Amino acid sequence: MALLSIVLPAYNEEQNIANTAQVLSELLDENAIDYELVFISDGSRDDTFPEILKAAAANPKIKGAQFSRNFGKEAGIFAGLELATGDAVIVMDCDLQHPPQVIPQMWKLWQDGAEVVEGIKSRRGKESLGYKLSAGLFYRIMSRLIRLDMNYSSDFKLLDRKVVDVLLGLPERNTFFRALSFWVGFRTEKVSYEVQERQYGKSKWSFWSLMKYAITNATSFSTLPLQLVTVMGSVSILFSAVLAVQTLVKFMMGMAVEGFTTVILLILIIGGFLMLSLGIIGHYIARIYEEVKGRPKYIISQVTENVQGDVVGTWRKKD
Ligand code: UDP
Ligand code: MG
Repeated sequence: MALLSIVLPAYNEEQNIANTAQVLSELLDENAIDYELVFISDGSRDDTFPEILKAAAANPKIKGAQFSRNFGKEAGIFAGLELATGDAVIVMDCDLQHPPQVIPQMWKLWQDGAEVVEGIKSRRGKESLGYKLSAGLFYRIMSRLIRLDMNYSSDFKLLDRKVVDVLLGLPERNTFFRALSFWVGFRTEKVSYEVQERQYGKSKWSFWSLMKYAITNATSFSTLPLQLVTVMGSVSILFSAVLAVQTLVKFMMGMAVEGFTTVILLILIIGGFLMLSLGIIGHYIARIYEEVKGRPKYIISQVTENVQGDVVGTWRKKD
């Protein structure tokens, strides 16, 4: 019988673990799907990991790991994929904002041959105005840069074992799960769902963390910002050519004194462009630097007893 793994990254979600584990196991038992739940506590400082241990003690189909510190949701997802042993793996939030009722549908599509099943938001759940604006901006920037419609996509998806292995084999450290699952291709189906309200606790994202996420993902997935530097350079060269002609003409006509405004403007504009460009290039260099260092995506400090293999302190399963 095929096994379904469900990967649930959790950061300070002590109130959600028990409930989510119960809801999911009941649903999967009802639908006669053989499953395992993989909870990854992303360096939570509350009782998330003890809750995971408790859930695992009560149900052997539940396992989990604790990171040594907060490494971010991406790292949580990848650690979960690494620990998952299923023939198909579903990644979802552990606050039940991704409705579990969709899981049987995804499973059915997988049984019918789909290799990736994307969860598409039919409606974004209740969000504050500030969140809506920053998330809106985030998705617009992302969609432009990586030429994928990201507005309705999410991290809620099912991946076939083949796809999981491909993702785990990618050497890069700065990953963007949501876009990578498009990038790898494979036979893809879609399931739409309505984002639910959070069960307990509050969202872990702030305006700045979303912006940081946007910039990191944009630069890890697109080199367009670098090309932008070239475009800006060309534009300012054109601009200065026009000004140069004007200045020369004025000089020859003997009216060259009142040029200070132009000089100041030029210094400001060119200085601005230069600094912006350096910033963009710097960002890529930082990315390259991080990749070159080859540090692990995450560090596992504890695991539940039923986790196979030697994974503590490492980021790759040793087999
Ligand atoms: N999460 C995580 N690490 C983080 C931030 C969030 O593992 O640094 C998890 C979180 O516990 C949840 C999921 O990612 O299961 C989505 O986070 P959240 O609900 O805060 O985001 P939102 O649903 O508001 O986009
Ligand atoms: Mg949420």
